[in-house]
Amino acid sequence: TVAVFGSCNMDLVAYVGTAPKRGETVLGREFHTVPGGKGANQALAAAKAGAAVRMIGAVGEDDFGAEIRAVLQKSGVDVRGLRTVPGRSGTAHIVVDDEGGNSIVVVPAANAALDALADGDEDLIAGADSLLLQLENPFSGVAAAAAAGRRNGVRVVLTPAPAAPLSADLLSKVDLLVPNEHEAAVLAGAEDPHRALAALLELVPEVVITLGARGSLYGDRTGTWVEVPSFPVDAVDTTAAGDTFVGVLATALGEGAEVPEAMRLASAGAAVSVQRAGASSSMPTRAEISALLAA
Ligand code: ADP
Repeated sequence: TVAVFGSCNMDLVAYVGTAPKRGETVLGREFHTVPGGKGANQALAAAKAGAAVRMIGAVGEDDFGAEIRAVLQKSGVDVRGLRTVPGRSGTAHIVVDDEGGNSIVVVPAANAALDALADGDEDLIAGADSLLLQLENPFSGVAAAAAAGRRNGVRVVLTPAPAAPLSADLLSKVDLLVPNEHEAAVLAGAEDPHRALAALLELVPEVVITLGARGSLYGDRTGTWVEVPSFPVDAVDTTAAGDTFVGVLATALGEGAEVPEAMRLASAGAAVSVQRAGASSSMPTRAEISALLAA
């Protein structure tokens, strides 16, 4: 079982040839709305990959909130921990260009209400194998969830995004840190991924750095280092690659896989997702992941 404490947004996605610079207006080709937010994305990725998933989060009293809840429920995610709070749901305003690159503005709105644990949250966390955290909610909420995970012997997995300085107290409750290359550089103060990994292992026992099309890198304090290549695919939209990676990784770890094996599954899952548009709409099924691994 995977518990997720994190953000739920409606992604408002515009597809353009080349993203506009400041002061510039460009015509887009297409527009989609699709549920997203790092928390909901990780929850959906894990559920589609076959995990039992519990989502702890907050949506607003608007149509976006109802749609986010419905999509999570339809994917089999346990939404007992998802509250509806006054005001708007979180939104992410995303521009995707023809190379599959993106730039994103997130307006947290309801996600700001997830600043502490509510009644029942600790029970939802306690029954899980792993707890997935990100940084799109108030720091106090993330810290409270991490503490609950640690108290209950749950593996605490933090995606440190958007990149922000982390307190020693929070880091002391994280088992596995999964930054992308940019986040790793910010946290470690070192550009080179191998050096960043070594620096981050001073802070937490296990680290996976994702390197986009260049794959991913794992290390732990016993000296284990593993590099997992990505699958060569034509990327059209890398929006939720990292979230898909983490959701599938947690699913595989929950099934008893060792980290390197779980990373191979996660890489395959992320490779399927980058070939399709959208965040939650691009999450692969387990059958699609297995098919890519077998190819
Ligand atoms: P984020 O989306 O958080 O920035 P990354 O870009 O590092 O994270 O991507 C996470 C993982 O997704 C990578 O480690 C890789 O396995 C996979 N991935 C990302 N981009 C591609 C790509 N263009 N082709 C194949 N796999 C990719």
